[in-house]
Amino acid sequence: MSVHIKHITPALYARFEGIQPDMEIDNVSIDSRSLQNNGGTLFFALTGQNRDGHQFIPALIEKGVQNFVVNHVPAGSEGKANFFIVPDTLKALQDFAIYYRQLYNFPVIAITGSNGKTIVKEWLNYLLSPDYNIIRSPKSYNSQVGVALSVIGINEHHDLGIFEAGISTVDEMEKLEPIIRPVIGILTHIGSAHDEGFENSAQKVSEKLKLFTHVKTLVLQNNAEVINLVPDGVHTFSWGYNDENAVVNIHRVAAAGGTQLTFSYRGSFDINIPFADDASVENAISCAMTMLSLDYSAETIAARMAGLYPVELRLQVKNGINDCTIIDDSFNADYQSLKIALDFLEQHKTHQEKTVILSDVFQSGFDTSVLYAKVAKLLAGHNISRVIGIGETISRELADFPNFYPYKDTKEFLANFKPSGFNDQTILVKGARSFRFDEIVVLLEEKTHETVLEINLNAVVHNLNFYKSRLKPETKIMVMVKAFGYGAGSYEIAKTLSHEKVDYLGVAFADEGIDLRNAGISTPIIVMNPENTAFESMIAYNLEPEIYSAKELRAFIALAQQKNLSNYPIHIKLDTGMHRLGFQENQLEELISLLRNNNFVEVRSIFSHLSASDSPQFRDFTLEQISKFEAWSTVLTEALTIKPIRHILNTSGIYHYPQSQYDMVRLGIGLYGVGNDATEQKFLQNVGTLKTVILQIKQVPAGDSVGYGRRYMARQLVSVATLPIGYADGIRRAWGNGKGYVTINGRKAPILGSICMDMLMVDVTGIDCKEGDTAVIFGEGPTVHEMAEVLETIPYEILTSISQRVKRVFYKE
Ligand SMILES: *Cc1c(COP(=O)(O)O)cnc(C)c1O
Repeated sequence: MSVHIKHITPALYARFEGIQPDMEIDNVSIDSRSLQNNGGTLFFALTGQNRDGHQFIPALIEKGVQNFVVNHVPAGSEGKANFFIVPDTLKALQDFAIYYRQLYNFPVIAITGSNGKTIVKEWLNYLLSPDYNIIRSPKSYNSQVGVALSVIGINEHHDLGIFEAGISTVDEMEKLEPIIRPVIGILTHIGSAHDEGFENSAQKVSEKLKLFTHVKTLVLQNNAEVINLVPDGVHTFSWGYNDENAVVNIHRVAAAGGTQLTFSYRGSFDINIPFADDASVENAISCAMTMLSLDYSAETIAARMAGLYPVELRLQVKNGINDCTIIDDSFNADYQSLKIALDFLEQHKTHQEKTVILSDVFQSGFDTSVLYAKVAKLLAGHNISRVIGIGETISRELADFPNFYPYKDTKEFLANFKPSGFNDQTILVKGARSFRFDEIVVLLEEKTHETVLEINLNAVVHNLNFYKSRLKPETKIMVMVKAFGYGAGSYEIAKTLSHEKVDYLGVAFADEGIDLRNAGISTPIIVMNPENTAFESMIAYNLEPEIYSAKELRAFIALAQQKNLSNYPIHIKLDTGMHRLGFQENQLEELISLLRNNNFVEVRSIFSHLSASDSPQFRDFTLEQISKFEAWSTVLTEALTIKPIRHILNTSGIYHYPQSQYDMVRLGIGLYGVGNDATEQKFLQNVGTLKTVILQIKQVPAGDSVGYGRRYMARQLVSVATLPIGYADGIRRAWGNGKGYVTINGRKAPILGSICMDMLMVDVTGIDCKEGDTAVIFGEGPTVHEMAEVLETIPYEILTSISQRVKRVFYKE
């Protein structure tokens, strides 16, 4: 990209306040943390409820960024850079994308729908790339921001665009349409996802169809309700199963290794695809239809479709051998996604040392030497300690790069692989699919059994933002990461949240805080149950104690005095009714006398804990706790003339008593995706999915039994699948014997007989599945709520009981 800044003012309808009106920009950024920000960057200071881009401007100027799109010039930055002042910086980003898009004139395909957008996009890229230089949305960049950033990636070498667009409510699609300006549209499967944002499904479909207002051809499944809503003048190119009214009639039969599709269109021809499930077949048909509309021959379509492959779109963070962390992006290697992966590496690195294993990079259009010069610059900018290049082109082009280790192909790398070459570092594994870097990941990954607890880090951020949206902007947030982050992994949660606005972390024991400090977390940490024996190490690691008794306070002050500390932060806990820990009313006087004129410690906060904030029937009791808190904390602040942070609400408190949010709240279970009631639950995203695989499937005849104690007796022939997860992994035995179930390929498989220590058996009669298939123990279904209800416990216990032998895998979309 190269845009002179004189074009920016009119394109953004902005007011220019600058010092250097004659310069070009060559990239756009919205992320202050990106190491890719430089003198050629145009930085858009987006504002959200969670982060305000304006606050990072002084630091960015320091780093050399000179052009900013802002809604005001931050105090102190006047005259230090160029500012484009607009009322709404997000709209300005979109206006810039609109301006940028119209500089290029080539066909663009746009995809929307409820499911399958990203897969159709990736498959089309694969199917069409032999003939076009394609620009496509990286990953699933389909939002109001993502679409704009995707389009800004266009350069003069591209001759086809494939962009996806997603909306969650009305009036969003008309903003994306002029940015994408498609000529071919694809409507993928319309499901019930995101229905909350729309009044009804007709409204949802109509809003999505606004993307296609100006297309020449629209590919979609024939369905009278949808077709009736298509804007006038749009030519529909429809398909249907055994549907004479569709333009293309398709007959579908299962075939060895997948599905055979017979297309009736200008004659008849067959396409075989290596998938059998409904969603994949539909997505493949969308691709074939698009190829037909581009006049591809039946032979070419059939030949290319046979090579479709499963798409893995997520960057996954995995534990590696020798204390390494692996970031697995072994799926594609184009320049755009390399930029994203390197930023991800920087933000998720757990070690000083960074290794990148990179295949040949594909970016249609650029000359090879230009492309690799850009790649080299990117790698250098990210301070990568070692680059392992696999492929003939990268080996040649980066030969002079410092600390570069070339390999001809993946086979050569695997043959020479030594585990000892990888110690205590974060490794980004990034390769085009044809390089089969999944085989490298297998070698680098720590070996454990197949059971994993997958943690969706996007969902954690989403849930945090949901609760923030219910709070005043100035209210501080403490996130509870005790008990290994409610089982979800305290370090990764803390690391993810260190990029969000979180003011405190809460742990139960000093050891948990020390682990976080050792892993590089610098957010203030409160230890909720400090033991006197841990005071010494708490001070060494800058952890702040909860003080709940005079005895404890005396001991801490004595140590602070001995160590010559001044104003060490402490947090006073009041017992307003929980009767667990804390000062009661008659102890306040003693507390005041201990704290008065004492400079060794400083009361950073005063708090209390609600015992029934989730129970509407105890509303009066809760309000009484709150009024005691108000009264007692006021006694303390007046007697000591201090202004500490006050806080009393946990997750359900935030939901039910937002008027009592004081200066801070303590968010726990909600962050991990578990709400109090169905309404609250609807706003949250699932965070943890416990998964395992089918070890063996067998047929059990009527009259035989399954498992210990012969507790299940087959009444007819049943298919039984054995899963390698048991009560030692934290699945309670009470969940067995017909009470609980797992989900296999979307279907419920009831647990048969008693759960064993390391295994359990489920009934898969009539379920299309095979050995090696995934079984979901909990996640979207069954939910932890469901399990808790049956087991007569609470979701907290289910989450925190998952044993540490279950590997945690973290991912971000
Ligand atoms: C665990 C805990 C919380 C968080 O409670 P949730 O119900 O999970 O939100 C808040 N405050 C204290 C003192 C806690 O121990």
